[in-house]
Amino acid sequence: MRVGIIGAGIGGLVAAVGLQRAGHEVAVFERAPEPRREGSGLSLFGNAFTALDAVGLGDAMRAVTAPAGLLRAGQRRPDGRWLATTPAASLAALRIAHRSDVHRVLLSALDPDTVRYGSDVLGVPASGDTVTLTTGAESFDVVVAADGIRSRVRSTWPGDPGVRYSGYSTWRGVTATPVDLGGAAGETWGDGLRFGMAPLGDGRVYWFGVASMPPGVALDDEWAAVNRHFAGWHSPIAEMLAATDPATVARLDIHDLAGPLPTFRRGRCVLLGDAAHAMTPDLGQGAGQAMEDAATLAALLAPLSDSDHGGIDAALDRYDALRRPRTQSIARRARSVGAVAQARGRTRVFLRDTAVRLIPASLTARQLTALQSWQPPSPARSRTEGALR
Ligand SMILES: Cc1cc2nc3c(=O)[nH]c(=O)nc-3n(C[C@H](O)[C@H](O)[C@H](O)COP(=O)(O)OP(=O)(O)OC[C@H]3O[C@@H](n4cnc5c(N)ncnc54)[C@H](O)[C@@H]3O)c2cc1C
Repeated sequence: MRVGIIGAGIGGLVAAVGLQRAGHEVAVFERAPEPRREGSGLSLFGNAFTALDAVGLGDAMRAVTAPAGLLRAGQRRPDGRWLATTPAASLAALRIAHRSDVHRVLLSALDPDTVRYGSDVLGVPASGDTVTLTTGAESFDVVVAADGIRSRVRSTWPGDPGVRYSGYSTWRGVTATPVDLGGAAGETWGDGLRFGMAPLGDGRVYWFGVASMPPGVALDDEWAAVNRHFAGWHSPIAEMLAATDPATVARLDIHDLAGPLPTFRRGRCVLLGDAAHAMTPDLGQGAGQAMEDAATLAALLAPLSDSDHGGIDAALDRYDALRRPRTQSIARRARSVGAVAQARGRTRVFLRDTAVRLIPASLTARQLTALQSWQPPSPARSRTEGALR
């Protein structure tokens, strides 16, 4: 069958690889003129690798990522004292990637010319089987809208909740040279401020700084601002900032979807990744969930041909039924974790820190293990359902 995918982000590209490897004809429309080269780091948990394994990309991605589970991780106070340590076993599958490496691996797994850069998609009609471009329209058996948090496709669907500001903004950077993390990583929580660090495979470090602030604040010098916000915090935060090229430090106001969408499917079109369930980055799951979406869709469509109309309809319904509850529940949790982590004021910070200290490590481990123990659907099941429909 012919599948048109809108957006060559992580979600669109993993879907393209999965569907192409399942024997379908795939075209990806990307409005950017060329592949994304910049970017910082990305945490990929065990569920992301299960999804990547399902589309045959797991080993290629492991080769360009570094395990994070060997370091002590959890939450610290700005003076460096630990509030909680995350049990190592629940982080055994966590790996840290540089985003440009992730994109390189995904693009190199596709047939040449699969991605059509400079193709700004204007919309998808309610039938969901046509991609409308400035240059005309193209029809497909299935259209996948993986066009990100500000999805133009989603904006025309009934029930689109739009996006909302989280209350915080995030600087991200990667050190230019290796920095010794002293055997520890994870996050440090202050008063309306948070700092996180994770090692890349070559000794460089991916870091992020989060500050509560109104949306749209303009700062003259982002690198100076992040240094100012985290001055006096424990080592090696200052060393990491000093080892980062100021020109590469970017800040982003964090938004998520303002509420749950009533459906991920309209006609022959499905939403995937941030377009469907943009979440705050507080659980490090946005890309992982996009990968799960992609692996699910590829598994459900794998056995079907373009003439199997009932099978395709059943597969798209099943995609919606499988993906919506899980992603919407994770998005809710991510927002709650962000609200707690960004607590402001002495009393709230004291109560939060006390609560974090009291949470049993076994509970944290159970939650992390449950989050990561996802499995893709069996393609045979969707075929049977299609035949029964
Ligand atoms: C600060 C921060 C930290 C994060 N950290 C993590 C993490 O550690 N782990 C994790 O799993 N996730 C993380 N995430 C989330 C993750 O980055 C996203 O969930 C993921 O990149 C979404 O991928 P996507 O393909 O759905 O969307 P995108 O990456 O946004 O891709 C959408 C693509 O569609 C294209 N496009 C848009 N409109 C059109 C159009 N009309 N026509 C054609 N093309 C179009 C865009 O140019 C873009 O290339 C983080 C996010 C943020 C903001």
